[in-house]
Amino acid sequence: MAHEVLSEKTVACPCGNGLLRAQLSEHDTWPHVKELSEHIDCADCREKYVIRNYTLVNKEQVEEEDRLSHARFELSRERGKLTKERYGDRWTERLLRIGTRSGACHAVAGLAGSLSVTRMYYRKLTIQAYAEELINDGENAGQILSKLGIVDDDITQMGSEVEELRRQRAMVVAAYTKDAVATMPAFKPHEYR
Ligand SMILES: [Zn+2]
Repeated sequence: MAHEVLSEKTVACPCGNGLLRAQLSEHDTWPHVKELSEHIDCADCREKYVIRNYTLVNKEQVEEEDRLSHARFELSRERGKLTKERYGDRWTERLLRIGTRSGACHAVAGLAGSLSVTRMYYRKLTIQAYAEELINDGENAGQILSKLGIVDDDITQMGSEVEELRRQRAMVVAAYTKDAVATMPAFKPHEYR
């Protein structure tokens, strides 16, 4: 996978002792596909910043974002597991009672991972497997409970905590975006062709 660098642009890094470098290169296996790569060529700035959306942002804030994303993902998964343990059988029965795949698809529209009937056939999914797939996604816990007409305080509480982590993460992203210290050198659209 050799790369040939076709074009390069640089600007001074924030501390002034190095460079921010953007390169357009071409794969020898995929000619005509130009790939952008971005580097911080300064050890001091690499300690403090990372590249996000073509800008240089605070590394500690990005690490905080990652921590919050991970915590949210884990909690959402736990919530899905608990929902499945407590109500998985009822959920599967509910979809099986509908009887047809098209009916089941219609009944779950709006849930994360819900499919069209065509895709369900294409994947050779039974209604039972489909029901399990949907409840395995923790993001669906709240909607599944409301479709079953169930109120579960533990699962509701976990849902609020998941939301809170999502809110905190959004705030961190907004903060580092606003405080970006530099913009990476950019290529114009025609330079990609
Ligand atoms: Zn620097």
